[in-house]
Amino acid sequence: MGGEEFVLRPSLCPHHALVYRSRQHAGRDLPLRIAELGGMYRSELSGVLGGLTRVRAIQINDGHVFCRPEQAAGEVSAALDLIEAAHAQLGIEAARYRLSLRGEGAEFVDDAGMWDRAESVLREVLESRGRPFDEERGEGAFYGPKIDIQIADPAGRESTLSTVQVDYFQPERFDLECPGGGRPVMVHRSVVGGLERLAAHLIEVHGGAFPAWLAPVQAVVLPVSDAELPAAQELVPSCVAEGMRAELASPARGTLGARIRANRLVPFQLVVGPREAAGGGASVRLRDGSQAGAVPVAALAAQCRPRF
Ligand SMILES: [Zn+2]
Repeated sequence: MGGEEFVLRPSLCPHHALVYRSRQHAGRDLPLRIAELGGMYRSELSGVLGGLTRVRAIQINDGHVFCRPEQAAGEVSAALDLIEAAHAQLGIEAARYRLSLRGEGAEFVDDAGMWDRAESVLREVLESRGRPFDEERGEGAFYGPKIDIQIADPAGRESTLSTVQVDYFQPERFDLECPGGGRPVMVHRSVVGGLERLAAHLIEVHGGAFPAWLAPVQAVVLPVSDAELPAAQELVPSCVAEGMRAELASPARGTLGARIRANRLVPFQLVVGPREAAGGGASVRLRDGSQAGAVPVAALAAQCRPRF
């Protein structure tokens, strides 16, 4: 196109290596961390495509840390901290941690010393965190071993969601240099993997009842009858002004019971009866059917914010 060649990225690593190489670095620049929510593409045959879990165009949350060899273990551990914090916010439980090692065959870079060094960094970090893990041969990346954090669907099928990898190979391939000489190490890390697979998993594990900060609609305002409609219509913008995603479910959409059922996955259901309309508030019903009473909008909004 216009004399230039365009390609679909099969991974983000080479681009980040080129970003690193594009300028000179000072000693204090390291570790240099680059993160991107970027597109990558896989040439999957149509027969193996499935829902959101096996797709051709992936938006991946990916990052690469360029550091000195002695900084690698600390960066791996920091990536695991970030992964565990993200899982807690998303309500995800890891099925297991896997140390994925080199297998036999030409698809793995042939340099035993390099594999051993990377493996010992990952093993040391896992052991120091005291978290049990399994080891599997043949599951490593072509350039190095990795820590894979496995998730399972309700049928018990496993897939990798998050990963941290130590790579001595690509810095060599891309001729990267540390300030003052020597090669940097590339720590690849993906906190939540591809967003398509993440969305599929979240829908399954939460059954649509997402944590409040993640819910597409966080508050629905339900006037009991047309008489409370004006008060309810005023409540919606006050919720929005507090930063909530809020909607109105007016009596035109059916009985109060039917509207509550239709909005049962919304974290906060704000019922406005005659008493609430007079006071300018609402009686709050939660997803489990329990009543929280008259909670101020600001307090609900606070519960809708992520706690990063
Ligand atoms: Zn990478």
